[in-house]
Formats: sequence, C-alpha cells, structure tokens
Amino acid sequence: MALEERELTDEKEGTGLAYEKPLPQVTKEDRPFWEAAREHRLVLPRCRQCGNVWFPPYSSCPRCLSFDREWIDASGKGKVWGFIEMAQPYIASFRDDLPYNVALVELEEGPKMFGNIVGVPTDAIAVDMPVEAVFEDVTDDFTLIRFKPRG
Ligand SMILES: [Zn+2]
Repeated sequence: MALEERELTDEKEGTGLAYEKPLPQVTKEDRPFWEAAREHRLVLPRCRQCGNVWFPPYSSCPRCLSFDREWIDASGKGKVWGFIEMAQPYIASFRDDLPYNVALVELEEGPKMFGNIVGVPTDAIAVDMPVEAVFEDVTDDFTLIRFKPRG
C-alpha cells in the first residue's frame, strides 16, 4: 500500500507506546525513498542523462537539471564525513536520548546523508570511520535509516 493511502498512526504496533519524535513530511519527490526504507532498502535517485546520484531526492538532477531520474539500490555503505554530539534538548522528545550524535555520512555512491551512528558512544566515532545503514521501524508507516560501524 502506498504511503499516501495509509492512515498515519503514531502508535507503535503491539507496544501501545506513541512515537513522539518528529517524522518526515513525505512529498511526491521523496516518497519512493521512504517506501523503500520501509522495506529496509536504501535507494537513491540517479540521473538518466548524466549518471549523477544525489541526495536529498529532489525531483531534478542538481548537476544537469534533468527531471529524467531513476531509483537505484544503494550499498548502504559509507564513511563518516563529520559528526557532532547533541548535549542540549533542543527538541523535547529527544531529551531521554541525550547525549546523542548526529553524523553526516558520505555514501559509497557519492551523496552525503545525515543520520545517527548507533551502537557506539560518540567518543568512539571518528571521521572516515566505515559505517553501514541500519533500518529502524519507528512506526507502522516510517522506517528511519541510521548507521552502525562496519568492520
Ligand atoms: Zn544529470
């Protein structure tokens, strides 16, 4: 079922616990990305005219401005390009996660993507550290992509 046809719910099935953090506002430009994420796949738009791969998934190629795009399955692998540690609760629903990291990951396919590095404390994260995507089903409708260290 397509995302726009689903009734949005903030209840995590079975737990009765609401997911209180912000969720993406899905657009027609990025709907294929979110639908693939729900299937635990990382997809990226690729230009059929010049071969450029980009993210976020704007409808046109940022290199040649063509609207002729296709979706490719990405490897999910990349490396940490930069990161910070959040120590203040700028968003109340993240208060219990403090401190947490926000990283910019350079994917093997080229584009950079924001995400959290999971499974390690922030002081174990380093620039150029190899990581791979992990998929967290946060609601019935949304799966978020995070990254974990890769050996
Ligand atoms: Zn292009």
